[in-house]
Amino acid sequence: MVHGFVRGISGAVVSFPVERNVPRLWLAAEDEIEAAEEEEKHAHFPVTTCTTCGQHYFVSFLKDFEYTRKKPGGGEAAGDSCYWEPLEESRGGCRALLLDRLIGGSDDENLEDHARTAPLHFCRYCGAAYPEELGRCRHCGATGVTVELFAVRQKKDNPGVLTSCLSCGANGRRMGSRYREPARPVRATNVADVHVLTQDMVHNSERQRLLVFCDNRQDAAFQAGWMKDHARRFRLRALMMGGLKDGPLSVGDLSRRIDDALEADESLSRALVPEVWLVVRKEGGGGRHEQERRKFLRIQVLREETLSSRQAFGLEPWGVAL
Ligand SMILES: [Zn+2]
Ligand SMILES: [Zn+2]
Repeated sequence: MVHGFVRGISGAVVSFPVERNVPRLWLAAEDEIEAAEEEEKHAHFPVTTCTTCGQHYFVSFLKDFEYTRKKPGGGEAAGDSCYWEPLEESRGGCRALLLDRLIGGSDDENLEDHARTAPLHFCRYCGAAYPEELGRCRHCGATGVTVELFAVRQKKDNPGVLTSCLSCGANGRRMGSRYREPARPVRATNVADVHVLTQDMVHNSERQRLLVFCDNRQDAAFQAGWMKDHARRFRLRALMMGGLKDGPLSVGDLSRRIDDALEADESLSRALVPEVWLVVRKEGGGGRHEQERRKFLRIQVLREETLSSRQAFGLEPWGVAL
């Protein structure tokens, strides 16, 4: 018997090691702490990605940070300049949204001249922020040149949140007392992880039987429903892919192609279009079953056809485009 233990992504963060000019991605913050040498403690910036286009953002919490006007304000005064100390959210730190570049942006789409961003320079060790580049951190005293990132301007009535994606323009919205940003943390979703794992196990098994256990009834029910819905949709999509393999087909022709496959395979038909079987039996229906099935399949093809190519399940919303 083989036991495997799998851990989902607990929350992706980036760090900025001195020797690199680009962010280093860690799918779990613990991995960075483990990998770092004793004396090398780097600041962690949690990663969120736009659920529509995959644009990534880094999050930082700073003391008295405010950026709703032309330039970031607040912070500590230091001579003619100012800076912002890192401060945990639980201790009252203000949330700042940052990015290093726009994905898919052309060269003339410079973040330097973007109306909604301002450059900030971060200490790679403690995460303090400065308006200009610095060789020695005023907060933690570490030497080493700061890293330049761009803060996203916030709205006065919704401070601390991303109200729209800089790359694709997807909007956030208020839901009751909470605000739903267009971007989400890169973190595992249990149902999706279990689904992908089990699909793979089934595909590679000799006898295709699968049992999934769970320690409580609610999760088990949720997982079962989720897998049923998604597995069915993926199988229908696979049939559509197969139909389009040899070239383009009209919606009607593609639906007919899938219809033929279901006509020839009753168990496939019962698994993929149970709604049709519920409405009318195949035997003695006088052709109504076939009629309903064609209509149902046409709706399924249209459903995929009208799905925005940017809204699809894919690697981008998972931050792999980082
Ligand atoms: Zn520092
Ligand atoms: Zn976007």
